[in-house]
Amino acid sequence: MSQPGFCFNHPGGRAIGACMNCGVLLCGMCSRFAEDGTRCERCSDAHENAQLVRAQAESLNKPASNVITKVTTPEISESAENVAAFLTWLPWIAMVLVLGGIGTSLYFYANPSPVAVQESPSRAREEAATALLQCLQVFRQLGEQMAAGQEPDMSLRCAPPSGPNRLERDEDTLRVSHTDPQLYGLETIFVTNLDPEPVSE
Ligand SMILES: [Zn+2]
Ligand SMILES: [Zn+2]
Repeated sequence: MSQPGFCFNHPGGRAIGACMNCGVLLCGMCSRFAEDGTRCERCSDAHENAQLVRAQAESLNKPASNVITKVTTPEISESAENVAAFLTWLPWIAMVLVLGGIGTSLYFYANPSPVAVQESPSRAREEAATALLQCLQVFRQLGEQMAAGQEPDMSLRCAPPSGPNRLERDEDTLRVSHTDPQLYGLETIFVTNLDPEPVSE
């Protein structure tokens, strides 16, 4: 409790006034001076809080319609602008897509497709395999001639670039061999009079 004439907070401090709200006596240190009067610290804080809350409530309520229109209107106009911009660019986008498609088809028309390019090595391998089979067929023919007791027909040869075959005679053994089996990726192709089936390794 405050002594008469002394501050509510400071018993040794002479009061210079009273809180306009709660009436406690206040020294100069404890007085909060405002435009509308003097308050104690507690009442001043409460008053300021109340003013702040009121101001916030006003800014939320009164301009609430303003806030909404300010926020939504640009959003609407912005998306509308985006749609308008999209519609403006749509023919260009379509043209780019069409031209891109034409360009791509022209590219694939002018250039062999990657699939065809990838196919050629396997086709080459296939052709090589076919050439080897035909070559072995020639040697089988030579082997059959020798097995039948005939002289091998040395004019028979595999398709170019294969050269003429080599005939070797070792006592009773006849052997016809390819001079360049590397053409077929082989080390040797030959047939003897002992077996009509050609040997290819
Ligand atoms: Zn007060
Ligand atoms: Zn005081």
